[in-house]
This record gives sequence, C-alpha cells and structure tokens, in this order.
Amino acid sequence: MTLLSFKQKLYAALESHYPTSEIDSFFKLILQDVLNLSKIDFALEPNKLISENESLEIDSIINGLVQHQPIQHLIGFTEFMDLKLKVNGYVLIPRPETEELIRWILDDYSNTQKLEVLDIGTGSGCIPIALYKGLNDANVNTIDVSIQAIETAKENAKINQTNIHFIHQDILTTTQFSQQYDVIVSNPPYVRNLEKLEMQKNVLDFEPHLALFVEDNDPLIFYKQIAELAINSLKPKGALYYEINQYLGKETVDLLKQIGFKNIELKKDMFGNDRMVKATL
Ligand code: GLN
Repeated sequence: MTLLSFKQKLYAALESHYPTSEIDSFFKLILQDVLNLSKIDFALEPNKLISENESLEIDSIINGLVQHQPIQHLIGFTEFMDLKLKVNGYVLIPRPETEELIRWILDDYSNTQKLEVLDIGTGSGCIPIALYKGLNDANVNTIDVSIQAIETAKENAKINQTNIHFIHQDILTTTQFSQQYDVIVSNPPYVRNLEKLEMQKNVLDFEPHLALFVEDNDPLIFYKQIAELAINSLKPKGALYYEINQYLGKETVDLLKQIGFKNIELKKDMFGNDRMVKATL
C-alpha cells in the first residue's frame, strides 16, 4: 500500500462515521505515530510504499475507528502537556480541561519548593506526573481505587522519569490521610447518568465508567468525601483543587462552604463552562 492509498482507504472507511476535520486529525496522528512521517513527508512522497507490518497495523486502526474506538486506545498513548502517556480502557483519556486545572496549580505554586501534594483518582497519572514535572522538588502522592489504573499510571510515571508515590485505596472508605498536604487535587467521577445522552459513543463504550459516572441522586459524593478529609489534612496555607461537573458549579461551591472552606474560587474552562474550583481554609 502507498501513502496515498492509505489516505484514500482511511477517508472512504470513515466518511460516514466522522466529520472530515476529525478524519484529518486521525490521518495526521497515524502518519506521525505509526509511520513516523509528517504531512510534509506525505506531500513530497505520496507514492512511498508502506511496509507489510505497518499496513496491517493501519488496517486494524481503521477497523477500530469504524467501531468508534478512541484513536488514543488504538495508537496506545496520548500527548498531554508535553508528556507522552499510555492509555487503555482502565483509565480516562486525559482531557484538555484537566490541563487547565494543572496550569492553575502551577501558576500558584511553581516557585514554591518541596510541596507535599496529594492527587485523588489518578487514572493515567496525568495530574501527578504533570505536577511532579512542573513543581520544584515536590513530594507527589496519588490514590486510586483501580489496581489496573495504578499499574498504568506507574508505567507512565516511569516513561516520564518521575518519582510518584502510589496508594491503592478507595477514597470513599478512607477515614483520614496519613499526613498534611500543601496541595490536594482531584478530578473524580462527576458525570450523572442523566448526562449520558450528551456523550459520544467513543467515550460511553470504551472509557471506564468507574472513572466517569456518579448516581443522579448523589453527584457530589466524591467532592464531599474528599473535602471532609482535606479540611483536616491541609496545611494552613494549603489549597484544594477540583475539576468539576460544569452543571454543578454552584452546588460544589455551596458544599465546600458548608464543610468550612473560607475562600472558594470557581473558574471556567476554555469552552466557557464552570470547570474548576480552588478552596482554601
Ligand atoms: N470531563 C470528562 C468527560 O466529559 C469526565 C471526567 C470525570 O468524570 N472526571 O468525559
């Protein structure tokens, strides 16, 4: 198969499933990550032959995309804040909104040394790994209830040359933390079942429901539990950061007030949705 015939095959297979702009980005990613080529290489040499092995790999990626499997699962990793992170069906694919949450923490603390940090619900490890990289000599700890997520995050910590402490623990049955922290951060499950209608097939069918969903009648269960633990485990100048459900900004702020946090800041993401909260004592 030549590069050009690969391109034609990809567009023909996917045109009834995805908008062209999305197929364009699949094309670019496959060129880059499977063939190690750029779009300029393609333009210069459209008749270049693809090896037998690469053709087989591309065919299996196209089949996966037809079934709406996430491209990141098919390629095996994703890029997030200049990090390369392995992803699979046990962890959420890191979202750009989470990058904004991390940037908020880095803006507040990148000049502070030796922070004690705790992340809850690590998934791929995107939050602790990015914080370890961006902070100065921080001690970064992370908790997850899923052993498979911890295995994936450990691999990612290693690939990205970071030293993170992993704790396999269910936050909902945790009664206290073992130390005091400067920063506690979490992107817990927050999507209500009633919001399933808004979700894409690639998310619903292939990303872990354990990391995504909460019951409609108790959507802030993780926020309440973590805030109650955090209020006793933050150092006096410490802060709690959350990624939140865009429809529950006010409710999340009210909950934090009720638990006893004094300064609470709600922030929108790049799409203009309420997405992050910072709370201090
Ligand atoms: N923002 C994610 C989504 O829309 C959900 C993340 C989460 O539940 N923590 O799929």
